Amino acid sequence: MNTSASDAYAAETLSEEAVDALTRASASTLPPGAHRHEALLSARAANIKQSAVRDVFEISMQPGLVSLAGGNPYLQSLPLDRLAASASAIIATHGLEALQYGGGQGTLELRTQICQVMAAEGILDADPENVVITAGSQSAQDVAAKVFCDPGDVILIEDPTYVGALNTFEAYEVDVQPVIGDEHGIVPALLRERIAALQAEGKRIKLLYTIPNFNNPSGVMLARERRQEIVDICRKANILVLEDNPYGLLKFDGVLPEPLRAANAEDVLYLGSFSKIFAPGLRIGWALVPAHLKQRFYLASEAVTLCPPTFNQMLVSDYLNNYDWQGQVSTYRALYQERCTALLQALAEFMPDTVSWTKPEGGFFVWLSLPEGIDTYPLLHKGIDAGVVFVPGAAFSPQQGPSNKLRLAFSAVPPETLREGVKRLAPVLAEAIAG
Ligand code: PMP
Repeated sequence: MNTSASDAYAAETLSEEAVDALTRASASTLPPGAHRHEALLSARAANIKQSAVRDVFEISMQPGLVSLAGGNPYLQSLPLDRLAASASAIIATHGLEALQYGGGQGTLELRTQICQVMAAEGILDADPENVVITAGSQSAQDVAAKVFCDPGDVILIEDPTYVGALNTFEAYEVDVQPVIGDEHGIVPALLRERIAALQAEGKRIKLLYTIPNFNNPSGVMLARERRQEIVDICRKANILVLEDNPYGLLKFDGVLPEPLRAANAEDVLYLGSFSKIFAPGLRIGWALVPAHLKQRFYLASEAVTLCPPTFNQMLVSDYLNNYDWQGQVSTYRALYQERCTALLQALAEFMPDTVSWTKPEGGFFVWLSLPEGIDTYPLLHKGIDAGVVFVPGAAFSPQQGPSNKLRLAFSAVPPETLREGVKRLAPVLAEAIAG
């Protein structure tokens, strides 16, 4: 080995003492009691926090509590016996193929069926070639952030927004910037102003992440007449719209507004999911990607999961082929509408006059506003003492500062229990308001 090669080799293979010394040096900057491996963590990992919603979920498992916190879909109406037979028929028919790796984009059969689901959602021109099947819409959000964002890039979000998206974006060290909406969703004029202000600061804005139908947490639906304007504003500023639509089909009256993607194939990356219209545990969602971006999105998705789950894709395909999936969606609509109505009636009956709330036309959530200056986070424990759990509003904003809002989920709770939960919550809020 010549001298310079051996120097290079020595530099690559540090002695054990040198490694120890380095580890001690980096570990010395850690807080007392922290494991030395904390010194190895990426800056990105430090940005990933336990979501406030997760804390609340753990609390809400306590017996005797009425949980209005968790937005789980109600699955009891699924035909379990038939699904069990389908699952075993898939293994019998497809054999080991059902348990093997598959293509990274997902099966052509399911991608073709997903185009039919999207037709029901209001997208009539989807091509299976541009569909990438992902592990839920959550994983598609992650891939989108990875493909488009470097640290410091801006993603605009409607404030409040889905906590899982906030966590994903923050993990990529994205600068998440809120756009304030009203009871009809994002206000185009405010979006325009926000974009201009951020651009004036020299920020690079990459995406607008939005849930136009029955936003989690607010339950708000973006007004029809604002939809095209919002896409036009983004197009002009060269911002890609990331439209997340897991609740779209769950509009109670079944009369769906057009997705942003409908007439905007080039400027909207659309996310869909079977979690709310079939079953979340299967972890099957999808992205409909503008054709010119498909390859980039698909390769990034493949780098994370190799391929979406083969067996689960077959089960979803079988479900779409052999079950009345549209009938099941109607069942869900009626069920969620009944629950939403029960929740709204209980709120009207028990809540103090100074509390207001959204009146969703679909989805899972109602969003309560207390008078300005009251922070709902400290009320969580008072609620638990009174036997009811909710999610404080701070969880759904990037700043996570004090918030006078809170989220109630009606999806998983029968009407009479919803009423009981509101009856318990109302005095807690009344006492906080009375100061
Ligand atoms: N987007 C929104 C708005 C959600 O509320 C949720 C989950 N509740 C998700 C995405 C994640 O859905 P999936 O199960 O498809 O990953």
